[in-house]
This record gives sequence, C-alpha cells and structure tokens, in this order.
Amino acid sequence: MGEKEIATVVQIKKAVAAVKAERPAYEEILDFYEKLFLAQEEAKGRVQIEPIQIPEKLLSVKREENFPLIDKADFTVDISASEALLRKICRLAIEANEVLAEAVPKIVDALDKGTLGASALFSKILGEDDAYFDEAARNLETDKKILAFVAYFSMKPSISLCAEQLATYLDKETPWEKGYCPICGSPPALSILRDEGARFLLCSFCGREWQTTRIYCPFCDNNDQNTLHYFFSEEEKDYRVNVCDECKKYIKTVDTRKMKRPVDPFVEQISTLHLDLLAQEQGLESGIPIWLQM
Ligand SMILES: [Zn+2]
Ligand SMILES: [Zn+2]
Repeated sequence: MGEKEIATVVQIKKAVAAVKAERPAYEEILDFYEKLFLAQEEAKGRVQIEPIQIPEKLLSVKREENFPLIDKADFTVDISASEALLRKICRLAIEANEVLAEAVPKIVDALDKGTLGASALFSKILGEDDAYFDEAARNLETDKKILAFVAYFSMKPSISLCAEQLATYLDKETPWEKGYCPICGSPPALSILRDEGARFLLCSFCGREWQTTRIYCPFCDNNDQNTLHYFFSEEEKDYRVNVCDECKKYIKTVDTRKMKRPVDPFVEQISTLHLDLLAQEQGLESGIPIWLQM
C-alpha cells in the first residue's frame, strides 16, 4: 500500500471505532465493512487502468449543458483485480453474518462453476441492468441486493481511481449545485453538512462529493421550502432525514459541524440504517441504487 492508502486505512479504522462506540448495534456489520474497506484499499494498489481522456471540444459541450463528465458505462474496470477482490469480499461476507452466509456461497459456487461470470456482473453494474440482477438472483436462488452489493464493492477501487483521475477535468471555478454527480451523473447516497453549514452530496457510485444548496431535493430539483422538510430523533441530533413531498424521496443528512470524531461518509451511510427504516415506514422511498441497499 502507498502512503495515501495507509492514511485512508487509518482514517477508516478511526471512523469505524468511533461509530461502534456510539452505536453498538452496528458492531457486527461494521466489523465486516471495516475488513471490506481495508481489502478495497489494498486492492487499489494493484488496479491497472488506462486514464480516460475527454477531448477538449466534448468537455466544453458537457460544461455548457451541465452534463456529467462520463456515463457510468464508460468507467474502466480492471477485471482481474476486481475479480480477485470479489473472491475476497465473498469470503469476508460468509464470515460476517447469517444472512450473508446463506446468500453468498451460492454466488461463489456459480463463479466456480462458470455459470456466473465476474466480468458480466461488473458490466451489468455499469449498465445498471436491474433485470439482469433479478434473473441472476432467481437462477442462483440468492438475494438480488447482495449479488449487486458484492459486485459493486469489488469494482469500487477501479471506479474510485477513475473518478480521482477524471476530477482533473472538473470546472473548479463554477459550483456544480446539481442533484447528480458532476463526474458520473449518479444520484447522491448521503448529504453532509460541513463547516459553516455548507451542504455536500456524496455520489452513490463513484464516491465524489459536490457542494449544493441547503434547501433542495437532489432527486427532483425541488427547492420550494414549503414541500421540503426533515425529521430527526432527539437522541441523534447530528443526523436527519430530509424529505421531499413532491417526489416522496428522502436522503439522510449527517451534520458533521459538532462532531468531534473522524467522519467517513461511507461508514455513516452504513451505520444509519435505522433512519432508512424510519423513512421507509413513512412510505418514503430511498433514491439510492440497489448495490447500496443491502
Ligand atoms: Zn459519481
Ligand atoms: Zn424531490
């Protein structure tokens, strides 16, 4: 691992330990995710991908039209590094809890037998082919969300590296302020309040963060104060669920302003599933893709 990966590993460990101390109910799942995140950082060092080039002309059109830099389908993925990581994540998942121990061996079996191809799985994530995951999960008698989850997290090191490289093409002068990621066009998975109350959205696919306005629904562009509100629990004042009455979707917000501990957005996303349950009990829909719904 390089210096940067080691720094990330230290930060992840601190963030995980802090959340575990605050919310012991998440201990088991966070133990698993911690191993998974560390495996991803390790894999990042082995990933080999060609940088994606965006011609000057195309770039200026994209900027003018507020288009994201690329489509999800255009990400480059190191298949062999991702497949090795897929195997590792499956091993970790089987040891993690009963639900995963039931679903994941069927995926491993199919990979061994060749009835499931890792590279097909990766391309179906890039193409967001929901029907494929329905059918594959049915054939393998496994869980669709878990199948998408292991596939996505195995490709994540390639996706993150692509996104880091592509970030050099972003216009640093003009704030993006859209509801979709400036790099890949995906919806946000989480909203984060940072210093001075600036609001950032975290991409559900490539992990890019971008700044946006405070009163705004990223899923339908609604910015009317009367139809946007939020709820929170008294015990957790640093977390809230932002709700849009127009599209009936919600997004979780982490207010990091008063937090005295290390914060990792993905760790926050995983350790706030109780907020998703509350929102879903109210008939609200999450705007996030299947690979993050496990
Ligand atoms: Zn993105
Ligand atoms: Zn909305």
